[in-house]
Amino acid sequence: MKLDNEQLYNLTHGFEDYAGQLGAISPPVYFSSLHVFPTFEEYMKAGAGEDEEAFIYGRVSNPTARLLEQKLAALEHGEDALVFSSGMAAATSAILGTCQAGDHILCMRDSYRPVHRFMAQVGKPRLNIDISFVSGQDLEEIRSAIRPTTRLMILESPATFVFSVVDLKAIADICCERGVKTYMDNTYATPLNQNPLDFGIDIVMHTLSKYVGGHSDLIGGALISRDGAWIHEMRHSVREWLGGILGPMEAWLAIRGLRSLAARLAVHQDTAMKVALFLERHPKVKRVHYTGLMSHPQADLIARQMRGHTGLMSFELDRSPEDAVRMINALKLYGKGCSWGGYESLALCPMYGAEEEELRDSGVSRGLVRIHCGLEGADNLIADLTQALEQV
Ligand SMILES: *Cc1c(COP(=O)(O)O)cnc(C)c1O
Repeated sequence: MKLDNEQLYNLTHGFEDYAGQLGAISPPVYFSSLHVFPTFEEYMKAGAGEDEEAFIYGRVSNPTARLLEQKLAALEHGEDALVFSSGMAAATSAILGTCQAGDHILCMRDSYRPVHRFMAQVGKPRLNIDISFVSGQDLEEIRSAIRPTTRLMILESPATFVFSVVDLKAIADICCERGVKTYMDNTYATPLNQNPLDFGIDIVMHTLSKYVGGHSDLIGGALISRDGAWIHEMRHSVREWLGGILGPMEAWLAIRGLRSLAARLAVHQDTAMKVALFLERHPKVKRVHYTGLMSHPQADLIARQMRGHTGLMSFELDRSPEDAVRMINALKLYGKGCSWGGYESLALCPMYGAEEEELRDSGVSRGLVRIHCGLEGADNLIADLTQALEQV
């Protein structure tokens, strides 16, 4: 993992106003729904201004949430950021803030499924925003799928399940030339391992619920852009009216999570690397999907776009899907549950209940095992996997 000194500063001290908070090393949680002014005229002036640091009402902005936004914007090399009550609130707000009825969205097939479901059940039937899917790997397919009405391209890299990556600069160039905005879910890589705005992507989305929070105790999301005017407009339209701002306590937890993000990620990556190499050598394992392995089919592109890796991977057993479930149930240290990015290790078969069509699209088997390697130590995790694999 190559760490960036400016990012390390922003994770820890960046934008903090110690003098303004009586020297407290930890920022106050501003539990306040409104702010008062000495005079009515000053209240009116604050409301009319363009100042993002003028706080009036908690559904529009909050000082604790604002500190988190400043840190995230700097970490992603953006001009400004918005924080939301979940990653999905951020994702759906990005769609509502870029598209209107009659528009078309191009979306990577391998991207976060709840966004596809939102488009199928709300975007398409209720808002008349069309969507079509492409692999993301084939630039010709992207070029020919862009319509005159295409407004947004939804990307995720590395993508869910097998952690394939797409060429961010090439796609951003194609979309920019055709007037299509690019949106990318950068949750997997975190701002420390990859900065999509540097490759020309327009909007970066993060869920704070994973590595940023880091302790599996909060739900939150963020959008970051180099277009500060768009963020300003979103703050005073979609986010204000849907009411999806992140709460002050969650913002404080995310700020605390950022302080140890670099240290935690270094351990997650080191542990995951050892686990991935162990699995790759195991006779019952057919294939391991992890961005840190030299055997990743896109290792060159990964090296060009990413500075490091995380604790999430998947693998395929040389056994039936039922055996994969048996193996997961035999794990003692890995919790059986969704999500990832916290201190704890987790395992599940994300595609076990998938439709045949979805399996074909994603190119993985029903028995694909996804694991998150937490902070319990590589030796403990490898011992747990060893005994569980013996049982199938
Ligand atoms: C969890 C997750 C989301 C959704 O975030 P929430 O905070 O749960 O709404 C989006 N994208 C990816 C890649 C995720 O892992």
